[in-house]
Amino acid sequence: MKNEVKDIGIDVKAPETVCNDQHCPFHGKLPVRGQVIDGVVVSDKMQNTAVVERNYLNYDHKFERYVKKSSRYSAHCPPCLNVKPGDAVRMVECRPLSKTVAFVIVEKR
Ligand SMILES: [Zn+2]
Repeated sequence: MKNEVKDIGIDVKAPETVCNDQHCPFHGKLPVRGQVIDGVVVSDKMQNTAVVERNYLNYDHKFERYVKKSSRYSAHCPPCLNVKPGDAVRMVECRPLSKTVAFVIVEKR
């Protein structure tokens, strides 16, 4: 296992632990590009995948006020980050890793 951490091109602090997940942007071979989204982990029951929820306000022109909305993403969760439900995380878009996963968690915040 290599002890070096790759520079993923995004200003986040690198994880302190090392993993040998090939889909880890720091220790594997997964390039990241595209959107950066902050959210909260709501489930980590899948293997190396977490559900991340993002809450935002959307302006409703008919009623002239903001409406609370939320959306959920399946995101790949490298084992070196040790993410638990309730953690605020930052995830970055990557290539599609499965039918529903096109984001990877890069930082606990
Ligand atoms: Zn890793």
